[in-house]
Amino acid sequence: MKSSLFSKFSSVVLFAVAFAPLSWADGESVPARDPKQPVDEAYTAKMKKYTTAPYFTSPLVDYLPASKSVPTPEVVLGDVAGAPGILPYPEEVYKYMRLLEKASPRVRVFSIGTTEEGREMIAVAVSSEENLNKLEENRARLAKLADPRSIQLHDAEADTIVAQSTPVYYITGTIHSPETGAPTALMELAYRLAVDESPYIKDIRDGVITLITPIVEVDGRARVVDIYKWHLAHPKEFYPPLIYWGKYVAHDNNRDAMGVTLKLTQNVLNTYVEWNAQVLHDLHESVPYLYDNTVGDGPYNAWIDPLLADEWNMIASRNVADMTKFGMPGVFTHGNFDTWSPGYLMFLAALHNGISRLYETFGNGNADTRERTLQPEEYARTWYKQNPPLPKALWSQRDNNNYEETGLLTSLHYFNENKRLFLKNFYLKAKRSVTKPSAEGPSAYVLPADEPRASLQAELLQTLQKQKVEISRAKSALTISLPVKKEKKKEEKPGETKDAKDEKKEPATRTFPAGSYVIRMDQPYSRTADALLDHQYWSPEDPQKTPYDDTAWSFSELFGVQVVRVTDAKILDAPMEKVTNVHAAGGVKGDGAIVAIVNHAEPALATLRYKLKDATMDAAEEAFESGGTKFTRGTFLIRDAKRADVESAARELGLQAIALGAVPSVKTHPVRAARIAYVHTWLSTQMEGWWRLALDSMQVPYDYMSTQAIAKIPDLRAKYDVILFPPVGINASATAIIQGLPTGWGNPLPWQNTPLTPNLVGKNDSTDDMRPGLGYDGLMKLQDFVNKGGVLVAVDDTAQFALTVGMGTGVSAARSERMKMVGAIVGTQLVDGASPIAYGYEEKISAYCDDGVIFSLSSIAGGRRRRRLGPDMRERPTGRGKKDEPDYAVGRVGSEIPEEAEAEIWEYPPVTDEQAHNNARVIPDANRARVVMRFANTKDLLVSGLLENGGDIAQHPAVLDMPVGQGHVVLFSINPIYRGETRGTYSLVLNTVMNFDNLNAGRKDASK
Ligand SMILES: [Zn+2]
Repeated sequence: MKSSLFSKFSSVVLFAVAFAPLSWADGESVPARDPKQPVDEAYTAKMKKYTTAPYFTSPLVDYLPASKSVPTPEVVLGDVAGAPGILPYPEEVYKYMRLLEKASPRVRVFSIGTTEEGREMIAVAVSSEENLNKLEENRARLAKLADPRSIQLHDAEADTIVAQSTPVYYITGTIHSPETGAPTALMELAYRLAVDESPYIKDIRDGVITLITPIVEVDGRARVVDIYKWHLAHPKEFYPPLIYWGKYVAHDNNRDAMGVTLKLTQNVLNTYVEWNAQVLHDLHESVPYLYDNTVGDGPYNAWIDPLLADEWNMIASRNVADMTKFGMPGVFTHGNFDTWSPGYLMFLAALHNGISRLYETFGNGNADTRERTLQPEEYARTWYKQNPPLPKALWSQRDNNNYEETGLLTSLHYFNENKRLFLKNFYLKAKRSVTKPSAEGPSAYVLPADEPRASLQAELLQTLQKQKVEISRAKSALTISLPVKKEKKKEEKPGETKDAKDEKKEPATRTFPAGSYVIRMDQPYSRTADALLDHQYWSPEDPQKTPYDDTAWSFSELFGVQVVRVTDAKILDAPMEKVTNVHAAGGVKGDGAIVAIVNHAEPALATLRYKLKDATMDAAEEAFESGGTKFTRGTFLIRDAKRADVESAARELGLQAIALGAVPSVKTHPVRAARIAYVHTWLSTQMEGWWRLALDSMQVPYDYMSTQAIAKIPDLRAKYDVILFPPVGINASATAIIQGLPTGWGNPLPWQNTPLTPNLVGKNDSTDDMRPGLGYDGLMKLQDFVNKGGVLVAVDDTAQFALTVGMGTGVSAARSERMKMVGAIVGTQLVDGASPIAYGYEEKISAYCDDGVIFSLSSIAGGRRRRRLGPDMRERPTGRGKKDEPDYAVGRVGSEIPEEAEAEIWEYPPVTDEQAHNNARVIPDANRARVVMRFANTKDLLVSGLLENGGDIAQHPAVLDMPVGQGHVVLFSINPIYRGETRGTYSLVLNTVMNFDNLNAGRKDASK
């Protein structure tokens, strides 16, 4: 069956190739080689050999032009690009690019920064010699299009610039390390663009500057090549999965385009913006054989210019059409990727007036050639996949390279053919961003100068500055009109008269103090700020039932600071000045031996605690007043520290400290620089990576160790005060955490530096076998740690693990089958503000939650909370009388129903006399968990994103402090530390850490 199918396809391909020159698009050069230019026969023969079927290549890449002076990738690879068994290290790829630069005036290599582990990132520009010699003039022209204010939004002048300019098309490869094909494809692409004299390639070279970052995740690339070498040396063994990619996160490195916390994001963003590129095209591998998923499916991001959605469609349609014409199966552009979240690397372009693009090509995870069998939904012919991939095919890295290069070349060619349109659109999108206040609003966002969380406010503004958003500061107080809320018309019932006194008047204006930050929407990157600060709503009725990623990201909520969306256009006329480096003002005011810092749940407080680790710091257990200033509960009181040290730290961290003349008479306890053990599994490091990144950025030290290491530490409590066990992130079961991967068969999976794998460990952890988990020994050690007074912090799946293994009684954790909460922002509410975990927080807190685990409380150990008449019977049972009247039994006098004590969902249900009778399982107050925070009521639960059937989690505990032995297990259903976005909730974890030995402070029923 296979062979007959193959031969049929082959004849189609021959036909298409034979007639291609006659039938290509009107006026466009033909995608075919220049017969006058000699071909590198040996290289071409090998490419053909490694291509597993004739239809897995195209007339653009089925030959390699020869050059007398420019080396082919073979000089570095020892074989052709995409050859089986060959995955080059970053330094080999760079070496080749620099050889190209040396040999050809059409290539230039730029260093664009380094990674977390210090490896270089590069961008390679390929264009005509003339274009490269005039890079600076061209850059200056493009800068005018990028910021139309520089030409007073003058369309005619823009047209002149467009006519003179060469656009920049930026291609980025292998951000996802197991998607291995891009580096060799891009080496060969650079060669072709530099050397090929065919009219088709010459058009691209003369008309476009192609900018290439062949490896985005450089640290991860070094590791994946290590593993491949290990695999080649141990061909019959299982090889270790790529547990670490970059230093911090794995696949999520492509979800950092909002927070810009990873170096790779910063470096690509800076390059993209500095070059004023029009396109950012990111290469991935997952789907057969080429899915230009930029078009994908809805809903599209609501903040992009609609012009961009049209551009996606234009380029993709032509891309698919060209490749289909070449006879390449499985090229399509619609599919299940929605373009809602702006977190993807490519989206840096979408939010900066460019064109984002993304390819999913097919890959084998390395350079092995393998027969691949697809799922029926992958090879099914659909309306958008008329030429679907084959159900079964031999697939090679060369095939992958053929697809990637062909796709890119046709895109580049089409882009060049239409570059005036795209350049003009680039200008128009920027212009429409500048005219946004009058065209669509809002006019600005304001972050008030009296923000109590000044350091968090500064972090939010600094994030926007990384995004190249301009920040201004009001020179004087600002008064703006607030939008008038439309009132729903109420039908007046006869006899009812409106009582004007009952209606609360909403204020019509708001005044912000001088020094308030203003993010003007009349700037080129206004959409970036708007997209990040606004709220999101994803309807449960949306035809798209499987959101691809988070449905919400509102930084205004997640950073926990005030952000006001202003529609009043008058604000743009107010006197203000641009701020180049936002920094929160900090320092020490007043005189006195004790320095107080009001606690507003700023993560900077933890940085301060660890920075001044020898100073004595206490937390006030109640709010107090001193010298006319109000201090919150949790206020830091610092003693025994040099004022100069406190002063410089406070200034650096943007914390306002006040020296007090006398010790305030308020109950206090120490806040400590607790010794932290930080535990990860060998199952996945994705979610925990964001926690590490956050702790490192706050300079909070910790010992990083795997679940395996726990069992080997004789006395955990002697070494540590707090164990952080961040979410594993794959809904890992307790069994998986304890057992790890199966060890009953197979071979050990080492994660170690060896001569064969010199890059594997980097700055992370190592093991001689990734398979074993925590084990029962480790579990005992964890329990012992808590029993002896340690604090374990567990989140989502690790919280479920802690409860499953019996750390704590009276709390159960379950998942809802009905609820749909996809990376949403939800409302939570403080239940016990006296808990040190809640220090600095106000009543209502927005938090990130992704189908969080649902905690339920029971007053009876081993019991489950139930509604007494079952879940469907919340009212009186069927019987006589009206709903609120008593029922009776025939033949006797009715009896009074005893009043039932009730409890809220987040409270322990009262124990009835019947339950209490001789019941050893009734949990005494002191052994019950303290509910610190709960989810909001159903109607207030959704803050941003998608939520369906939220009633299942509404009002349930969100943060619980469970006393266990002498210690505590602190359980989270929300994820407080995530993607560098949730900084408003970081302090829930940091408070737990710093108050680890006083978590019972303020507890009403505390017995200890
Ligand atoms: Zn990918």
